[in-house]
Amino acid sequence: MNGHRFSVIGAKMEAMSNQTGHVWIVGAGPGDPGLITLAAARALEGAEVVLYDALVSPAILGHAPAPAERVFVGKRAGEQAMGQDAINALLVEHARAGRRVVRLKGGDPFVFGRGGEEALACREADVPFTVVPGVTSAIAAAAYAGIPVTHRGVSNSLLIVTGNDAAGDGAGAIDWQAASKAGTLAILMGVATLGDAMAALIAAGKAPETPVACIRWGTRADQVVVRGTVATIAELARAAGLASPVVTVVGDVVALGDELAWFAPGPLAGKRIVVTRARDQASDLVGRFESLGASVVEAPVISVRHTTEDLVSDERVSSRWDWIVFTSVNGVAAFFGALGAGGRDARSLSTTKVAAVGEATAAALTGRGVLADFAPTRATSECLAAELPRVQGARILLSVSSLTDDRLAMALRARGGLIEQVAVYETLPEPLDAERRREVGE
Ligand code: SAH
Repeated sequence: MNGHRFSVIGAKMEAMSNQTGHVWIVGAGPGDPGLITLAAARALEGAEVVLYDALVSPAILGHAPAPAERVFVGKRAGEQAMGQDAINALLVEHARAGRRVVRLKGGDPFVFGRGGEEALACREADVPFTVVPGVTSAIAAAAYAGIPVTHRGVSNSLLIVTGNDAAGDGAGAIDWQAASKAGTLAILMGVATLGDAMAALIAAGKAPETPVACIRWGTRADQVVVRGTVATIAELARAAGLASPVVTVVGDVVALGDELAWFAPGPLAGKRIVVTRARDQASDLVGRFESLGASVVEAPVISVRHTTEDLVSDERVSSRWDWIVFTSVNGVAAFFGALGAGGRDARSLSTTKVAAVGEATAAALTGRGVLADFAPTRATSECLAAELPRVQGARILLSVSSLTDDRLAMALRARGGLIEQVAVYETLPEPLDAERRREVGE
């Protein structure tokens, strides 16, 4: 995998020498972040641009390198963010600019994913592409409800259909006669029209007592399963308030789920959590809440801007200090950003002692090849101000935010230190858009 980290840089060089990039049409699996393929993870690790859908979790997007551009092109609150033609055009445009583009889609890209249309658009534009199949929700959601889609002596066929045509609106309408004869029937996208689909099956001769399971958010920690029969499921699903995304499985195999159900949703299932952290830093926290079953609303109310450009030629970032004090991960990231932008690295700190407040700050330093020389016994600035050794007469840089007050500086000055406080990043208020406001209001 290491080789692939490097390939991001490799890709940029390639992009400069060779005008055409490459598109990976990738299945992200049904939801559980463990259900993506190694090929998908590798494609993401090398991505410069990721176009992703609503059903893709942040934990999976996290396989892409931090600087990769992430473009949401799916549906939000029922509204398509971008039409299919626009998505196709964007894929081609990025690839023609020489980029490595990942088109990340829920489940399998060629199962009701319109991946075929995107592949055709690439072919037409002469853009090379790779298809990475994914674990489809049609099979995986059933599996996480304890339902094998085929089972010896019970069902020897699986038919996957879209429920979108259940209302019988013309072209491409489902052949419910044929569907009623499938050993196992999996219906995708059909929760709103479930009643019509079940009525159509009964009209086509399906036994009304055939077992049915509706699985919402299958394979995720917030999975919900509603069981019934062809005759009862529509009412039961309505009563349970089931909304998209749901896979509906119809057939005698569903009864095996009574015995084989094995997957327990997480302890936060059914809870909604608002995360107000800055967008760049939220994904880890969001991923952890989601892995415990919570449904998370990301509503960043602050954003962080590194003042790297302003500091590139700032002597204070380079000159020799006796101590540099870092009080946050951002302080570390922004400082090293400024250092790097000036063509330098950790070696320019070789004669400097480094202090870190908090474990995450120390870890951020370790990640840049620097072991902190000092950490206060409690992770607070007050504690650092009291405990930092060899302060008298020492030249000390505080690498902090624009909002940091001067208490730490004052306290260290009072101990005889020569203190310079540099705001290496700004914390700015971030307005919530209307949809986020509505979600938070709920
Ligand atoms: N390519 C996807 C399907 C895309 S169509 C795949 O192979 O899974 C979108 C539909 O997929 C949703 O309406 C829902 O029916 C189904 N779906 C996707 N993920 C799901 C999940 N985790 N749980 C239940 N249904 C899911």
